[in-house]
Amino acid sequence: MPAIIIFFASFSVSLHKSLPFLLRKKKSSQQKQYSGDKTGPDHWGLLDPAYVTCDDGMQQSPVDINKNSLSRFVTCAKKSLDFDYKPIKDAVAHFNGHTVEIDWTPGPKTHNNSITIGKKQYNLVQFHFHTPSEHRINGRHADAELHLVHRNPEDKSLAVIGVLLQAQATNVPFFKYITALHKSVLAAIKPSSSPSNPSLEALLQDTACYGTQPIGEEGTKVDHKVPVINFSPLVHALKGFTPRWEYSGSLTTPPCSESVAWNVMHDPYPIGLEQLRALVDLQGYNARDIMDSRGAAHK
Ligand SMILES: [Zn+2]
Repeated sequence: MPAIIIFFASFSVSLHKSLPFLLRKKKSSQQKQYSGDKTGPDHWGLLDPAYVTCDDGMQQSPVDINKNSLSRFVTCAKKSLDFDYKPIKDAVAHFNGHTVEIDWTPGPKTHNNSITIGKKQYNLVQFHFHTPSEHRINGRHADAELHLVHRNPEDKSLAVIGVLLQAQATNVPFFKYITALHKSVLAAIKPSSSPSNPSLEALLQDTACYGTQPIGEEGTKVDHKVPVINFSPLVHALKGFTPRWEYSGSLTTPPCSESVAWNVMHDPYPIGLEQLRALVDLQGYNARDIMDSRGAAHK
């Protein structure tokens, strides 16, 4: 049972009985829709010769972290993981119709946010979200997953930090730009609509509804300027998250490049329910199927 169901079940007596059923039904159909869409994961390998690894790769992500994968290719990470992050100013939260993403290219006088795994350094290049999580723990999704994507400046190899996100009632400062971007997208799509102020039950219903189409249809692109993103609370939490799991995998979207150093955090980080709802409203279901036989999709 996904964490979101557990959260909802404990949160609202009136929705206790109806939501889990609703979620299972809706999520299942959305999962099929995301995978089977003509530009979705089932077709990535055919869309472009550069995407052939999506079909033929042998170290594809995401994976289910369980007894089996832990005995084969996932390890409890032993190398040190250090963050050298400072707040970023004048970032742009970008919505491309499918994903909320913040790209980051530091200027000549700007601090280069980076991580060091063991002795190897990687610079932050972008971060984005999946709803629900792509990685699963013993078959279970988290409500969402944050991917912090880094690149080594010399050999260009990639390292991604996967942070499972779990909904809570109160909003979390780090994710403020999500609701701001959501408002910008709504304004771009429906210029005449006024901001809504839904009740908590309406929020629960909406967030549960992975069955709805993402509001930004194909071709919708909206940028929202963010004056500052402060990583301190997130990084502080990540430093304390143990264990973390390490494996060599791939990008989970085209071109599905391999030899990505994955570090998936065991402990979930909180995200506000309203923030999760905005994310789901924007992205819909955008989690690739588990690739647990190292290359073949597992539904
Ligand atoms: Zn991702």
